[in-house]
Amino acid sequence: MKCPACKNSLREKGAGGMTVDICYGGCGGIWFDQRELQRVDARSAANLHTVWRDPNKEVKLTEPRVCPRCPEQVLERRWFSEQKLVEIDQCPTCGGLWLDEGEFSRIHQEVKGAKVAPPGWVAAMAQAAAQVRV
Ligand SMILES: [Zn+2]
Ligand SMILES: [Zn+2]
Repeated sequence: MKCPACKNSLREKGAGGMTVDICYGGCGGIWFDQRELQRVDARSAANLHTVWRDPNKEVKLTEPRVCPRCPEQVLERRWFSEQKLVEIDQCPTCGGLWLDEGEFSRIHQEVKGAKVAPPGWVAAMAQAAAQVRV
């Protein structure tokens, strides 16, 4: 599978019983399949935060991104929540989710200040991000 952001080859990584695809040595983003999102827990998410990123890899936020699973399907950029602080990329067809490098910890910032209860995977990622020192 190709990275939707920088076209590097994604690498599978197991973390706490789930398998996600990371852009190791590329832009440092992480792809979650829909079913993996439901299995995210704080420990496995924290494990994922240490994706090695190439500092010279440029990521263009304005270019359309294609789903690594669905041919020709462009990811939809949408707000992570109604707070409108973090933008994420989600595939309208398969429901997979792309997080750019750094979005993980921004989700944590957002959830920390939020009054509403987030979906389970969001809470897990936020907890995990809280444990990570970048
Ligand atoms: Zn990448
Ligand atoms: Zn898709």
